[in-house]
Order: sequence, then structure tokens, then C-alpha cells
Amino acid sequence: MASSAHPAARLAALYAAARAARPRAYAPYSRFHVGAAVLDERGRVHAGCNVENAAYPQGLCAEASALAAMVLAGGRRARAVAVAAALSASGELTTPCGGCRQKIAEFAAPDCEVHVLGPRGMRRVFMLGELLPFGFGEGHLPAQRGAKAPPAIDAKSTTEPLSQAAPAARPSAARRRRG
Ligand SMILES: [Zn+2]
Repeated sequence: MASSAHPAARLAALYAAARAARPRAYAPYSRFHVGAAVLDERGRVHAGCNVENAAYPQGLCAEASALAAMVLAGGRRARAVAVAAALSASGELTTPCGGCRQKIAEFAAPDCEVHVLGPRGMRRVFMLGELLPFGFGEGHLPAQRGAKAPPAIDAKSTTEPLSQAAPAARPSAARRRRG
């Protein structure tokens, strides 16, 4: 997570984070490494990489893990997204999969920019609305009476020392007492 003030610097940080995340991907099955980064409403950048699983559908896309990092840090809006991957066999840029377009849309407006990076700096910028036209959102759900948006999480709350938590019971001691 990082933040910079100038828009160009923010974009550079976003690209750098997506590129740096890519080699960290866990992709032993597809060997298709993807890095992603999200710029949140406070100008902070959160990165993620794909995490595959032997049970294939349980794998996680880079965009999804970047969004999870954003939420964990207290971010609630994606202002821009960057995705870094190899080109396809036919030389096309790798855009977010359908599921990730939907996941991004949960936190972003249709004019959110999705920057698709190639291995040699080649890139194209899409609007999220281009990638996910006629998308489904909370506006499609019936209004929930009394429903209230959950409060934004203060990033500080995620850094409280674990030592403040109650010490866990030691199972061996408990067993001894019972015996
Ligand atoms: Zn995806």
C-alpha cells in the first residue's frame, strides 16, 4: 500500500504495484502470472496477484485479491485499476475476466479506468462501463428497509497488536485438569 499526491505519480505507482505483484503470483497450474493494483478513494494503492488451487475453481484472480487488500485497509472505492499480464497467444492484451469486472463494479463507477498493461509497457485504458455494460448492481436489488451501509473501517484498526487479544486456552493444560 502506498499513496502519492500527483495524479501522474499515482498512476505510476499503480502501474508499478501491478507489475511488482505479477511475479509473486501462485500459478503452478496455468503458469499465467497476473498482477493487479487498485487506487482507492484516499489515493492509496493496493496490489494483488492470482492465487491458484489444485481444485481449480477455488483459485483467486489478481484483481480479486487486490480488491480484498483494499477492503482490508479500509478502502471502499476503486478510482482506477491496473492489470499486468502477458499477452495472449494471438498478441492481445489480457483484460479482467467477467467475474472480476463484476467484482470491480461493486466498488467502482462505470467511468473507473481499467489500465491493461502488457509486458513491454504496451497498454490500453478501458472504462469499466465498456468492459461491463448493463452490469448488475445493488440498484437491482429491492430496497431494504432500515438497511444501512456498514461504516468505513479505519485502517488503524487493522494494525492493533495481537497481544491485546485474550490469550488462547492451552489445550494440554485443560486436558490435564479434566483428567
Ligand atoms: Zn478474474
